[in-house]
Amino acid sequence: MKILVVGKGGREHALITALDESPVDTELFCFPGSDAIESLASSVQVDGLDELIVWMKDHEIELCVAGEESYLVKGEGLANLCEQAGIPCWGPHKQSAQLEASKEFAKEFMLRHGIPTGAASGCADIDEARAAINGQYPTVLKFDGLAAGKGVAVCPDEASAEEFLQEVLVERKFGDGRLLVEECLTGPEVSIFAAVCDDEYLIFTPARDYKRIGDNDEGANTGGMGAVASRQLIDADMLAEIETSIVKPTIQGLVKDDLPYRGYLYFGLMLTPDGPKIIEYNCRFGDPECQAVMPLVQGDIASFCLSAAKGEMKSELLSFDEGWSVCLILASAGYPASSRSGDVISGLEKVDGARVYHAGTKRNAEGQWETNGGRVLAVVAGAEDRLGAVDAAYAELTKVKFDGAQNRSDIGRMHF
Ligand code: ATP
Repeated sequence: MKILVVGKGGREHALITALDESPVDTELFCFPGSDAIESLASSVQVDGLDELIVWMKDHEIELCVAGEESYLVKGEGLANLCEQAGIPCWGPHKQSAQLEASKEFAKEFMLRHGIPTGAASGCADIDEARAAINGQYPTVLKFDGLAAGKGVAVCPDEASAEEFLQEVLVERKFGDGRLLVEECLTGPEVSIFAAVCDDEYLIFTPARDYKRIGDNDEGANTGGMGAVASRQLIDADMLAEIETSIVKPTIQGLVKDDLPYRGYLYFGLMLTPDGPKIIEYNCRFGDPECQAVMPLVQGDIASFCLSAAKGEMKSELLSFDEGWSVCLILASAGYPASSRSGDVISGLEKVDGARVYHAGTKRNAEGQWETNGGRVLAVVAGAEDRLGAVDAAYAELTKVKFDGAQNRSDIGRMHF
């Protein structure tokens, strides 16, 4: 089975590893790929989506898997172009990917379909935003467009809200766009992933990610410094409630609204005192949650994705390990404000009790691995119990070294 995965980071390294480990014979390609991914999937060198589609047709690619989100909404959209070319695509159409690309679109979708979420108002300018906040703090302000992960502010008071409003709606730091003023929710955050095929879905192992650079969730926001995944992360009753009140109505809503969806769908949830509520959708697997979840997936994920991309959900092809998986990110010096490239990485060959997925690495002229980005590597270990998985992951992490390496020391140590 010839499969091409779109992306180049740790998430794609994990997706490709899982496809490679599927029992079915696979020939794997990656666009744009990376030096580390190259050992499993040949990098495809083309310029842009249109050329990629032609390349896939010429090379008789049987399945295109969307890893990175940006391609889903670029130009005409990866899945739309694949459909026109007759290539099955595991990733949603551009119009459906608005669930991730536009926070206002997502909020209207949630409200229209009665999916529990924080109350919110869309605002065009600072006066509307001030009126919507109406002196209620804390409040959550969200820029409705691409902001490289910096478009959300949880504001405890008027001063912090005013500062964000000035930057976003007056100085237009992120460019043109509206702003959502949202009710501030409280409670632990959980990531739920489902494979969606039209009106059917399969829920994967729940996960939790750790966004801040420092222990105890202190310091700057990052792309994610680690993740844990396990069926045991939340109890069966809570998962059933999430399925009934959030997952099912979302899938039904997609069908009702004529939003074609075949691919992974992420539900970012907060377990509030009033029950689970949705904060956001992402139209693909999370990074680094993917690196934690994929090692727990058993069965034939390549055949599963191919048949679901063609419209037939074969859930019987997959099962999930009941244990725990812990993913630790090693980041480079300066991250997240900046990142340092060129630090030589040692000790990778000593890792024998964990998987290592590469994100920001490259091979130098001497054939050594060196840092090449903010988040460098993910070290992932599993065990039947949470602390066993945590200890195993940290024991392996200490074997890998490079100058300026940063990691959190508390990933998975507390349940919530
Ligand atoms: P991501 O990087 O996950 O794509 P994002 O920039 O799209 O994030 P959100 O996920 O919507 O933004 O919000 C980022 C974080 O802000 C959440 O993980 C959560 O901690 C906090 N947050 C968002 N909405 C709320 C809310 N209504 N109440 C409280 N906290 C919130």
